[in-house]
Amino acid sequence: MDPKSQRVKLNDGHFIPVLGFGTYAPEEVPKSEALEATKLAIEVGFRHVDSAHLYQNEEQVGQAIRSKIADGTVKREDVFYTSKLWCTSLRPELVRPALEKSLKNLQLDYVDLYIIHSPVSLKPGNRFVPKDESGKLIFDSVDLCHTWEALEKCKDAGLTKSIGVSNFNHKQLEKILNKPGLKYKPVCNQVECHPYLNQSKLLEFCKSHDIVLVAYAALGSQLLSEWVNQNHPVLLEDPVLCAIAKKHKQTPALVALRYQVQRGVVVLAKSFNKKRIKENMQVFDFELTPEDMKAINGLNRNIRYYDFQQGTGHPEYPFSEEY
Ligand code: NAP
Repeated sequence: MDPKSQRVKLNDGHFIPVLGFGTYAPEEVPKSEALEATKLAIEVGFRHVDSAHLYQNEEQVGQAIRSKIADGTVKREDVFYTSKLWCTSLRPELVRPALEKSLKNLQLDYVDLYIIHSPVSLKPGNRFVPKDESGKLIFDSVDLCHTWEALEKCKDAGLTKSIGVSNFNHKQLEKILNKPGLKYKPVCNQVECHPYLNQSKLLEFCKSHDIVLVAYAALGSQLLSEWVNQNHPVLLEDPVLCAIAKKHKQTPALVALRYQVQRGVVVLAKSFNKKRIKENMQVFDFELTPEDMKAINGLNRNIRYYDFQQGTGHPEYPFSEEY
């Protein structure tokens, strides 16, 4: 099947491709890898690219997208590009300048989706992760409804086609949905989601409000990242996933991606490796049985790789809620 046709309609009428290419890599990875990997991803059929100001690679990712437009592989409207508003820019007056900065780095006229990276606001300034002398994060205090109103203005100004959130729990989503004078609902909530943290309650909540759940760390995250809790088991070595993969003559990674597609979740897959970038496109080439899906659902154990422990004292820290 043509992967380009595998899209989901968002609540604002735009479409998001169900498979997205993740571009986050730890700081020590040269940014040129994001450029080459994104180009290849588009060549092999990815039509959805996920990045963020925080990843410090929007220059390279934008360059990759523009080069694939220039050589005729795609048109701008064929590629769905997501950027994210970092935590130090949640004050409403900082939102539009932050998006404009991303657009400048990307050298694009608009993004397809702009999302609040996390509800945990941090002190504005040049540092991505502002800390005090004792190494504690310096929080900011921002009403997320005011941040949301600034995002709505960015959509109206044509800087982004759609707006959404990331790492929100259902209460934070509810707060936006119940905001007096709400103009646009969030189209998505991008959260960590994989067989060890399948987010079934949050997924049900999102579906009931026509909000798409976008899964990150769907392959179990990059265990080397500074943001990741290193003490958890490796998802792709799970015996149940491995047995299902063997039965279908696929890899555990493809089973983990396919699981999300079949439960109506838009899924991101990061790889900077040529073979694995191509492999991940094969998610559309096979189907899991209802028994496979049930067995994978049974793996849920509330393992959160990106637990953002440093943010726990913040009033909007999202992961203390059950979902
Ligand atoms: P992920 O997609 O779970 O991937 C984890 C690792 O799996 C990668 O490092 C990759 O290594 C490896 N991999 C990829 N394909 C594979 C395959 N077919 N077989 C075996 N291994 C494979 O990682 P993630 O980066 O944590 O999450 C994905 C994306 O979600 C990110 O890149 C980013 O765009 C987004 N994200 C968003 C948030 C947020 O707060 N909103 C947080 C985290 C991530 P190789 O590169 O070596 O192949």
